[in-house]
Amino acid sequence: MGPAVATDEAVKQLIAAGMDCARLNFSHGTHAAHAETAARIRAAAKDARRHIAILADLCGPKMRVGRFADNSVELVPDTRFVLTSREVIGSAKEVSITYKTLPQEVSKGDVILLDDGLLKLRVDEVRDQDIHCIVEVGGELSNNKGMNVPGATLNAPALTDKDRTDLAFAVETLGVDYVALSFVRRPEDVLEARALARDVPLIAKIEKPEAIDCLEAIIDAADGAMIARGDLGVEVGPEKVPLIQKRIINEVKERGKVVITATQMLDSMIRNPRPTRAEAADVANAVLDGTDAVMLSGESASGKYPIESVRMMNAIITEVESEWIEAADRAAKDPQHVGQWGFATAAARAAAFLSFVLPLRAIVVFTSDGRSAALLSGHRPRAMIVGVADNARLANRMALEWGVVPKVRATQSEDLADVLKVSIDLVTEDKLCASGDAFALVAGWPVSGHTNTVKLHRLA
Ligand code: PEP
Repeated sequence: MGPAVATDEAVKQLIAAGMDCARLNFSHGTHAAHAETAARIRAAAKDARRHIAILADLCGPKMRVGRFADNSVELVPDTRFVLTSREVIGSAKEVSITYKTLPQEVSKGDVILLDDGLLKLRVDEVRDQDIHCIVEVGGELSNNKGMNVPGATLNAPALTDKDRTDLAFAVETLGVDYVALSFVRRPEDVLEARALARDVPLIAKIEKPEAIDCLEAIIDAADGAMIARGDLGVEVGPEKVPLIQKRIINEVKERGKVVITATQMLDSMIRNPRPTRAEAADVANAVLDGTDAVMLSGESASGKYPIESVRMMNAIITEVESEWIEAADRAAKDPQHVGQWGFATAAARAAAFLSFVLPLRAIVVFTSDGRSAALLSGHRPRAMIVGVADNARLANRMALEWGVVPKVRATQSEDLADVLKVSIDLVTEDKLCASGDAFALVAGWPVSGHTNTVKLHRLA
């Protein structure tokens, strides 16, 4: 979300174009503005009879330069430029930095990248609070641009004071459905946020080389991961991003958690009404890699074609998934952790398998904590998953999972006939299924909540 879509009408159009989850980026904007956006999303989702997840993305210890007297300066190659922890108004000679202990943590020869890696400085000398650099790749540097020091292990705290305030606001005041943590380096970073986030699921953004070194432990600690390819590409080099993306997706999906592929997916649509063919292939390949969600940032937040970007992304996903090659392959593979199978795992797998051999339109799954819907989603069935929760919080959460259409129905019945009747109402009331369509029902019977049953049904 961002200024390009800050009206009721724009959010309505985003939802109609296929948006399932909206990101509030706490690197930008005031609490009042985020509250307004969240209220707008909730209202538009209600009008559209949809459940939309809201994800609060915390800023994290992102290093930035300060402001310039004239908003920007031109850094000239082979000249000197000073980054300082003193508070100064920026000029062509020097600028303040937000991370005040950086002078103690870099030394001669280190590379400092600015503005997503577009500008490059090399440290020549550190004198007290000043880092004297030589400009190696020049260009325009404007107010508040980001900084990266590739390869350096910095001591910044995982959660800044701002993050703590933002997290409390997002969880307690806005009631967001997910919180994303930026610049996670260790599993402990996730655990620290966990204590403050109550039961809101945490998404670890993978964008630091240190995080790649302990990827499995971070994913174990979190509820999901985001491949934050922007900062990741600056830190490790763009050439390493594609294989890291595949590795993260595999590790997350093996654990049945949710994974988001982010950044520059349709970047040229910030300026143009159509994407490049390479961008279309990037979205398609993320789907084929097995991602649950693909994310837009500047394209929808501040670009010229926000609605068109979502529509285009939706069109690419729909086209790729209509072939189902990867999905079929995934489902046919021997599943992991067979030894740990319980009835719920077996029922989900059985229903997913049925969707490959029968023309099922939907799989309706009643879920008390989201687990059964997540299990089904992980098998990438060839039918929409109608995930039925007894509360809106869980329904909103399920919107981020691959293939899940969330619904709310407080069904207390332990009679399978009643549960089937509710399922028929759910799939017909929003025209998810039509007369003659078949669907599978996955439920617990005779005790709801203990998934053990797959029932097939054809609508009269
Ligand atoms: C990224 O760096 O790719 C990312 C998703 O983070 P942000 O958009 O918050 O900079």
